[in-house]
Amino acid sequence: MSFLCKALINNENRFQTIVQSLPQIAWTINLEAEADFFNQRWYDYTGLTFEQTKGWGWQQVIHPDDLQKAMETCKKIRESAEGADIETRYKRADGVYRWHLTRLEPIKDEQNEIQYWIGSSTDVEELKQLQQLKDDFVGIASHELKTPITSLKALLQLLQQLTRSDPSSKKIPMLANTANISMDKLIELLEDLINFSKIQNGQLALKKVWFNLSKLVNECCEHVRLDSLHHITFVGRKKLMVFADRGRIDQVVVNLVNNAVKYAPNSEKIIITIDKDANNVKVSVRDFGIGISAEKIPHLFDRYFRAEPSDLQSTGLGLGLYISAEIIKRHGGEMGVKSKLGNGSTFWFTLPLSA
Ligand code: ADP
Repeated sequence: MSFLCKALINNENRFQTIVQSLPQIAWTINLEAEADFFNQRWYDYTGLTFEQTKGWGWQQVIHPDDLQKAMETCKKIRESAEGADIETRYKRADGVYRWHLTRLEPIKDEQNEIQYWIGSSTDVEELKQLQQLKDDFVGIASHELKTPITSLKALLQLLQQLTRSDPSSKKIPMLANTANISMDKLIELLEDLINFSKIQNGQLALKKVWFNLSKLVNECCEHVRLDSLHHITFVGRKKLMVFADRGRIDQVVVNLVNNAVKYAPNSEKIIITIDKDANNVKVSVRDFGIGISAEKIPHLFDRYFRAEPSDLQSTGLGLGLYISAEIIKRHGGEMGVKSKLGNGSTFWFTLPLSA
């Protein structure tokens, strides 16, 4: 075998090894965009064969809504003779489309003439979903902030008019009280945003002290007891001491209790249990409200996630559970939920008993 032949075979083997070991889908197309090679990831992802996808057969994998744009972009890239990126959805073997970012690069010979094109596609579905959630979040956050601000503005205008026209009016304390409620809502939202940003930047510091857990849980329920629409039953250990950040644990319990109220508008019962095993203490908050469907449960503790039941006008940034789970994780504990749509939910968290 001549030296040149050996060199070509070695190059071909090297090319195959590199392309097969890539974490991405990869293929080559000729100057007419006809495919003549795919790596194994292509076959694994599409569930199709070389015969089915060679030549122009790969088009069946592209989402019909993306195909025309992809063809046009692909043509432009080929004409420009420069590498570039395209975003399209590829159909997986189970029929699900996932967004992929494809890089097309020309392979040139010694005379700088393009011989063929090599494409590599990275699955960017999760990134796309996160981007979408972030975009939605900006909309939701501005709406959520605007509502209490608008009501505050109206209340302050009314107060201003009344203090001028009728300074001893009995309405003044009532209006001031309502303004305070709107203000508290605003502070709550801003605190969620500040905590979220602290977590993202790894700046959520814990100031741990020993405290009585049941006393703290009781304090957290005070505002709900006052609304007298919900009845909280407290079960379990009353004397357990834990070593944790009191303010942060307060925040977690308040979040769980507020959710139990918010997502159970038609049932008054809430049961809070404090339990322990050899190593951990466990706090559970049970409501008898709308519950959560099985497919949504795995996402509950994700940032920005809101299950958004169609029959409930819920408000919130979808950050509360994410922040709570991070706080518990930072304490070395765990957080979870047991729920069934229509049958209420039990949110729980654990904290280690030892300091
Ligand atoms: P939000 O501020 O939107 O309430 P959370 O992070 O506290 O944010 O909750 C995320 C989502 O989880 C909520 O939008 C809601 O759909 C769902 N959820 C939380 N708690 C409950 C509950 N007790 N019952 C039913 N759904 C709940």
